[in-house]
Amino acid sequence: MNKKEILEILKDNSFNEELYKKADETRRRECGNLVHLRGLIEFSNFCKKNCLYCGINSKNTGLKRYRLSKEEIIKTAKYAVDSGFKTIVLQGGEDDFFNTERMCKIIEKIKEMNVALTLSLGEKTKEEYRAYKASGADRYLLRIETTDEKLYRKMHPGSDFKNRIKCLYNLKETGFETGTGILVGLPGQGIESYADDILFFRELNADMIGLGPFIAHSETKLKNAQNGDMELALKIMALVRILMPKINIPATTAMETLEKNGRMRALKSGANVVMPNLTPYNERKKYSIYPQKQGTDALNTLELNKLKEEITLTGDSISEDFGTSKNYKNQ
Ligand code: SAH
Repeated sequence: MNKKEILEILKDNSFNEELYKKADETRRRECGNLVHLRGLIEFSNFCKKNCLYCGINSKNTGLKRYRLSKEEIIKTAKYAVDSGFKTIVLQGGEDDFFNTERMCKIIEKIKEMNVALTLSLGEKTKEEYRAYKASGADRYLLRIETTDEKLYRKMHPGSDFKNRIKCLYNLKETGFETGTGILVGLPGQGIESYADDILFFRELNADMIGLGPFIAHSETKLKNAQNGDMELALKIMALVRILMPKINIPATTAMETLEKNGRMRALKSGANVVMPNLTPYNERKKYSIYPQKQGTDALNTLELNKLKEEITLTGDSISEDFGTSKNYKNQ
């Protein structure tokens, strides 16, 4: 599909349900009737960046900041592994306290637990990415957020669009299973840009794509902006599945936040990954990248079982392996 064809589909809402169905079929054929669970640990809300949409941006002085200690991170990861998670995701703001040495020690400890490890720590140098990889990290998530360079610059003061792209290519070159993605519905984000985003995902040969609607946060410059459109986000996600059949796609928390049952809809429209939140209860409210962030909580057996039950209702089983992207395996 070229840009024009992608745009035609994005603009036409008369066959959305068919699109979702086709995406669901594609996922089941290419990736199986399996959902992969990833245990998400949001280990620091300190951030040196000032992304206009994000609640943990450095200018939000009202926010209580926290960092989990190395021991707390390891303990949470251990809990996750003991509960059956096969992948741990460490996500945080861009927090220089966690320098390469500290990060690598944590990576090594987690990798001793025989589990796949995903990092989502923002923009780093190629040397840092290499060090994480050498310590055993398997995957890295870095959303491009938008490929509209003008909009990107507006949303990320002081940040360099070209560098974010370079980071993604560096991650690929370093051998990471690489994930990227976008926000849907930022003020000024045009329909044309989503077609460019999708073409960029393909150009990069991304192994995972995460996308979700923008949700306005009261402590940001975009507090009065409209939330993104769930339907559009779902549509872009479904289209990505059809065009990139072997990648992994999470049903994102932002979808569940904007629409009750949004996560289940996503799982029936091409998504095959869920990332339950394992961040300790006393800290997770402070990781407020957007308000009323729905915990797809799994911090106790009851929550985890409820989630698993809900997932199996879609005709899927919970995957028992690491859930490496088929796209990555084929390279
Ligand atoms: N510091 C890391 C992790 C960022 S948080 C990094 O730079 O990659 C993970 C994702 O949350 C972001 O990539 C962004 O797409 C999303 N996000 C941030 N604020 C949001 C908001 N207000 N609404 C919806 N999604 C948001």
